[in-house]
Amino acid sequence: SSKIIDGKSIAKKIRDEIAGEIVSIKDSTGIVPGLAVILVGSRKDSQTYVRNKKKACDAVGIASYEVNLPEDCKEEEVIKHISEFNSNPAIHGILVQLPLPRQMNEEKILNAVSIEKDVDGFHPLNIGRLAMQGRDPLFVPCTPKGCMELLHQYEIGIKGKRAVVIGRSNIVGMPVALLLQRENATVCMVHSYTKNPAEITSQADIVISAAGVANLVRGNWLKPGAVVIDVGINPIDDPEDRRGYRLVGDVCFEEARAVAAAITPVPGGVGPMTIAMLLSNTLSSAKRIHGLS
Ligand code: NAD
Repeated sequence: SSKIIDGKSIAKKIRDEIAGEIVSIKDSTGIVPGLAVILVGSRKDSQTYVRNKKKACDAVGIASYEVNLPEDCKEEEVIKHISEFNSNPAIHGILVQLPLPRQMNEEKILNAVSIEKDVDGFHPLNIGRLAMQGRDPLFVPCTPKGCMELLHQYEIGIKGKRAVVIGRSNIVGMPVALLLQRENATVCMVHSYTKNPAEITSQADIVISAAGVANLVRGNWLKPGAVVIDVGINPIDDPEDRRGYRLVGDVCFEEARAVAAAITPVPGGVGPMTIAMLLSNTLSSAKRIHGLS
């Protein structure tokens, strides 16, 4: 059966390296990397994500600054905070927790973040550069970067391989497909209008699934020996769990394990990598802003 790609332990290794580097930068320069997080509204899941990001910052020595705004606040209010953070020298990364309340113009708000501090990599200029040959974004979005890091750490070849990405969202599917392409994979996107997704997926050496549909990818969707990165985080009812639910990925784990060469578990795969990449982006940003190597 497949090798389990242990995102949890790789993420820990990366966080430890980041913490070590932050200590030495602080000792030699007095600089402390800073991350500002803006949360609008009171979605429970968003609050949990923001809390976890703050905890992760504390653990590696990144100073975190949090702004909570009410659901019905004005766009200008959010942009005012972003502008303050843009010009605040203690802040090296600015993150606007998505999704924003429906009445807000997401594009306008993400555009307001200085690209030098866009640690989520969602600014259109960063995404545009990601899509262009010979250009480099200042930041790569965290979840896609985490998926690539897992492939790199497990020394999985990408060049010339067939990759299928399931899902085409701005935050996962689209940027991860661009990253695979930048590393010379032949990439195919599967989405909700794709006919015969199983047949297309079964040609892939590397499958990255970010559809948000529990048990979408069955064992018979996979080519024997494929490598599977499961980004999905989907709650399903489970009366035996004390919360009444548990989290599963997009891939039928047990079925896939019998076919794939390697697979990420959910939880413990891509999830912890996302936060590690946010910390990594924040540290790189501080280094770039202060001209440290
Ligand atoms: P989204 O809803 O924005 O996008 C889902 C995409 O999947 C869409 O492009 C849609 O076309 C496609 N899709 C939906 N149903 C499909 C189907 N039946 N067949 C093929 N394609 C289908 O979601 P998102 O924000 O990209 O997140 C996707 C999943 O990844 C969710 O489960 C989310 O919780 C999870 N996620 C995990 C992390 C992490 O850190 N591990 C980060 C972000 C998102």
